Order: sequence, then C-alpha cells, then structure tokens
Amino acid sequence: MAASPKPAQRKAALTPDGTLPVAYAKLGLFTPTDLVLHLPLRYEDETRLTPIGDALPGRSLQVQGEVTQCDVSYKPRRTLVAKIADASGELNLRFLNFYGSQAKQFAVGKTIRALGEARGGFWGMEMVHPRYRVVSANTPLPDSLTPVYPSAAGIAQNLLRKQIAVALAQSDLRDTLPDSLLQRYHLPDFARSVRTLHHPPPDIPVNQLEYRTHPAWRRIKFDELLAQQLSLRLARNARRSQDAPALPGPVDLVAQLQAALPFSLTAAQRRCWDEIHADLGERHPMQRLLQGDVGSGKTVVAALAAAQAIGHGYQAAFMAPTEILAEQHFHKLRQWFAPLGIEVVWLAGSLSKKDKLAACAKLASGAAWLAAGTHALFQEQVEFARLGLAIIDEQHRFGVAQRLALRQKGGQPHQLMMSATPIPRTLSMSYYADLDVSVIDELPPGRTPIVTKLLADSRREQVIALLRDRCRDGTQAYWVCPLIEESEKVQLQTALDTHAALTAALPALSIGLVHGRMKSRDKAATMDAFKRGEVQLLVATTVIEVGVDVPNASLMVIEHAERMGLSQLHQLRGRVGRGSAHSACILLYQTPLSDTARARLKVIFESGDGFHIAREDLRLRGPGEFLGARQSGAPMLRFADLEADIDLLEQAREAADWLLANQPDSAHRHVARWLGGRQEFIKA
Ligand code: ADP
Ligand code: MG
Repeated sequence: MAASPKPAQRKAALTPDGTLPVAYAKLGLFTPTDLVLHLPLRYEDETRLTPIGDALPGRSLQVQGEVTQCDVSYKPRRTLVAKIADASGELNLRFLNFYGSQAKQFAVGKTIRALGEARGGFWGMEMVHPRYRVVSANTPLPDSLTPVYPSAAGIAQNLLRKQIAVALAQSDLRDTLPDSLLQRYHLPDFARSVRTLHHPPPDIPVNQLEYRTHPAWRRIKFDELLAQQLSLRLARNARRSQDAPALPGPVDLVAQLQAALPFSLTAAQRRCWDEIHADLGERHPMQRLLQGDVGSGKTVVAALAAAQAIGHGYQAAFMAPTEILAEQHFHKLRQWFAPLGIEVVWLAGSLSKKDKLAACAKLASGAAWLAAGTHALFQEQVEFARLGLAIIDEQHRFGVAQRLALRQKGGQPHQLMMSATPIPRTLSMSYYADLDVSVIDELPPGRTPIVTKLLADSRREQVIALLRDRCRDGTQAYWVCPLIEESEKVQLQTALDTHAALTAALPALSIGLVHGRMKSRDKAATMDAFKRGEVQLLVATTVIEVGVDVPNASLMVIEHAERMGLSQLHQLRGRVGRGSAHSACILLYQTPLSDTARARLKVIFESGDGFHIAREDLRLRGPGEFLGARQSGAPMLRFADLEADIDLLEQAREAADWLLANQPDSAHRHVARWLGGRQEFIKA
C-alpha cells in the first residue's frame, strides 16, 4: 500500500518465459504454480474504514482522512507528524526517520488512507509508522482481505502480492481431481480454494482461516498429502519395475546359521524374517525397514537375510553408521559365519591403505561373501562381484544421499534398513510410505526392565559410591559424558577429566575410556577389554550411543542428561538391560532445567517404550527435526499437520490408490502441480 503504484505494477509482471526472480528460490518458489501455492500466513482487513472518532487504542484499524497539518522536526529526532481528519475526529500519523519525499505526500489537503494500531499519544490519538497511501476521496476499498505472505529479505510484500495475483490470473487452475473424488470427501474445487485463500471475502469466518479448518484449507492440505502419497507410490512402482536377483526358497546356509545360534528366534523375529524372506524371493529390489526397539534383536534377522543371499551365490554388505558399531557387527558376523566357511571382511575409513586394498580385492573377486563396515563400504573404489543385499543399520543416521549411493552399487541389490527409532504411525503413513516395514515388537525373553533414576548433579558423590559398591559385586557400568554439540573438543576434554576424576575416586576399579578421537585400534581394544570384563567401568562419549552390545553391563550413568534428545537418551539407556541382571540408568542433570528439558526427562523417566518415546519426541520437536537426515532434500509438508490432519491423511491414502488405479493421468497432473521438479529426490 506504499506510494507510487505504477513502477511496482510494471515490475510485477512475471518474466516472459514465466520464470521467477532468482531471489524467490529462497522461498522455494520457482514457477508460477509455486506462486499459486504460496499461501498467506495471515491477513489484514483493508476492506472497511473506521471513523477516526471511533478509533480505540490497541486495535489494528484502517482510517481515511484529509491532511490538515504536517510538521517536520529534527530534534530530538527526525520526526514527521501529519494530522488527518474526517468528519468524526482527527488523528496524528507519526514517522521517525522519514524519508525526504514523504513530506510531500502529506501536503495539506491530500487524502490519506492508513492502516495501523491506534494509541493514545501526548497530543491525542496517533498511529506510529502506519502503512498508508495517498488516495482520492472516492478510491474504492478492496473487496477482499489483504494477504500477508511468508517472505524473505529482499522480497517486498507488495511485489509478492502483485505477482501472486498475476500468477493466479494466468495459471491453469483447472482441477486435477475428478468431481466424484471431491464429492466423496466433501472438498471444494481447487480454483475456488486457492482464490479464497489468497483473497478471502471480508465476511469469511476468520477463525477458520487462522486455524486452517476452512474447507478451502482442507482442500489444499488434502492436495498436498495426496501429492506426497502419489509420489511415494510412483517411486515404489518404479522400483518394482526394476530387476534384482530373486533369492527364493529354503537355503542350507540359513538353516545352518539358525541351528548354530545359542537361542531360538522370538515369534516377532520369526515373523519379520518371513516377511524379508518373501521379499528376497521376488525379482525386484526389496526395500524394507526392519524396525524394533533397542535390544529387540534386529542383527540376527539381518544375518539370516545375508545368509539367504550368500546361499544363492550373492554377496551381502552390512553397513553401520559408526566405526564402533560396525566393528561390533563385524565380530558378531564373523563369529556366526566363519564356522560355516563364509569369509567376512572389514572395511572402514581407518584401515591402512594396504588392508583396504586387500579387502576391496576380495569383494571385487567375490572371494569374500560378506562385508561389514561404515559408509566406506560404498565409496567409489569399492566394487562388489555380485552384491545381492545391502543392509543398513540405524538407517536414520544416514543421509538420503548416502542411501542412494549405496543403492547404485552393483545393479539393484535388495535393501534392508534397520532402525531402533520407531516411526510413529503418522510418519510411517506419510514420509515412509515408500518403504515396506516389519516390526519386531517383542524383546527376547529374560530381560528385566531398566530402572531409571533422575538425580541432580549435586548428588554425584552418591552415584560414585553406588558405582564403587556395584562394580565390586561384579557389575559392569557405563559413564556417558555430556554431549556438547558445539564442540567435540570440549566433549573430549570433559571425557578425559571425568575419566581422571573417576580413576582417582575409584582406585580399586579398572576404568576404561572411549571417545571419537581415539585411534580405532585403541577404541576396539578398550571395547574388547570391556566385553571380556577386564574393564569394569567404561567412560565414554556418546560414540557408544548406537547399537553397542555388552550384555553384562547393567548400570549406566548419563551426565548432563538435560542436554540430550529423547531418542538419544533412549538409545543410550538401551545399552543396559541386555542381560538377565537387574539394570539401572541414572540420569544426572544440572539445574536449572528449561521447560523442554524437563519435559524430555519426564518422558524418559516415565516410559521405557520406544514407540511412546518416539511419539513424544515427534510432538516435542515436530517432524522436520525428527526425520533429520532422511528427509534432507525431500519435500516436506508445508500445510498439512500430521497430527491434526490425520483424517485427511487417511483419505489421501485411499484417494491415491483409487486415482492410480482409475485415473493415472490425473494422478500425474496432480503430482506435477504440487511437486514440479522437486520430486526427483524421491524418484531416484
Ligand atoms: P538391536 O535390535 O538393538 O540391534 P541386537 O541385535 O544387538 O539388538 O540384539 C540384542 C541382544 O539380544 C544381542 O546380544 C543378541 O544376541 C540377543 N538376541 C537376539 N535375539 C535373541 C533371542 N531370540 N533370544 C535371546 N537373545 C537374543
Ligand atoms: Mg542394533
């Protein structure tokens, strides 16, 4: 509403080829269709005028009046005060640090329309820095609310408004969905919905706009969810049209491995294995997520899958996000497979060049059947003779790009991902809808629940005394040092200090230390000593967070628990309670606690159920952060809220199936409108 509308209007036209100014990329806007879907954050009501005499302080309102006086003063600050009046009263418009040409706009006799918050000033009612424009007495009022769009530095709201209006007028707003579908879900048509949301009529229920419950909003959210569902299904169909080696039927190696295990599978493990087994028998690449709480026994299920591939003459690769974890898998796999005559190789960044070359040579020649390692496994120079199965542990720790790199290795291997971070239902219905999911929903027998205690750091001495007693009785314990995100160095120093302090306080105990900066050989040696029981107390940074499995350890102390995320606390706590001994986890926290830290600690204290914790985590953090690496680069939902719009999500799922089966063209048009070029990442 600022001055001189002419030049702005000229700029407002979209460039001839329909592309947008580069600055708009910051807002994720690339095409006119993107502009149409760039919906307002809120609105201002410029459709009516309040008589100046009725202006109440503290309310945002629009007035119009004739300038009766304009004063400019320079002391104490550069100030312009223009008095405007209508038949009902008068009001001062006050501007600090005004710009030169402004004074001219307020020449006595001009008519000014101003929007702002009125307040009682020393000289009577005033507005400070209102939005205003010079009008003539009969300039019409707009007939719809004025949208306020999400914007960014360097993008003027006014220009954005005009360009969006142009895009609305020029774009093809025809519906992508058939009437029958809209009727079924009681949804209004697309064109009317976007027009309403950009330019709502003045009498629209404002609450419905604000809370996004208006039918127009529901239509937009439905569309967004539908686009997500469709693109995931299309990605999945594309995968199903690719070839992978079929690895069906019973395989001797699997039976041998099962027979050699010191335990029998739980019913849940058996069910998950059956599901994976069925996938492996198909001619297209499996993409399955094996989910199970910490300690539920995912590794052995993955090992059976590896045996299935190897039994068919294909190689399998087992990738883990940290070297400690990868190495542990390596030992476990070797322990299981070596007696069956299957060579396992180890590949990690820390290997000497010579050892790396030797390992690579074995994988390239096919001499080694099974590889365990970090993402070093899937770097360019590593080639597999016949990779049939890629297993990715703790998949949420890997970025999308890494997963894709892995998929590209050696044709299309089957892929098994594992995660101990349970995916809440809303997410598995949406962001993870392209994956098949198996859930191990039962822990192996003989586990005792972990007792969790919350203690203020001032009671540290007591905790040390407890450690002294428990370790003397043969318990093994972890002491996890604070996570200091900003600085790995500080964390390392804290670990060193803590190790020194505990060694001094507990001279009778053998106390080990592992941290991320250690040489892998030293790390592995310490872990081994801990596993063998030679080290009783292990001081560690959060490198032990994922997957580490030492069943005899039954006590865990976590320092500065208030700084850690929920899933991290759950993972750390899951390092104990793996054997039959009574286990405990002591969370030390530093006061004062922030509200969110208090909320997190309450959740972890009250619940040991990974699913419940994940749901709370999602609630406290929102899906963007919860999904972390996995979604980087993939389109996030902008409008729909998975919790609040669960009904729409279910409808969108149903509609996606129907549309793909009955009107695939509409489905493609719909995806194109909503995702444009942005779906590449999911498709890959
Ligand atoms: P996670 O699912 O957290 O990766 P692991 O695969 O590390 O769990 O298994 C945790 C521990 O439970 C391991 O020591 C493993 O050998 C053991 N385990 C796995 N399955 C069973 C079972 N069916 N019965 C008894 N112990 C099992
Ligand atoms: Mg694991």
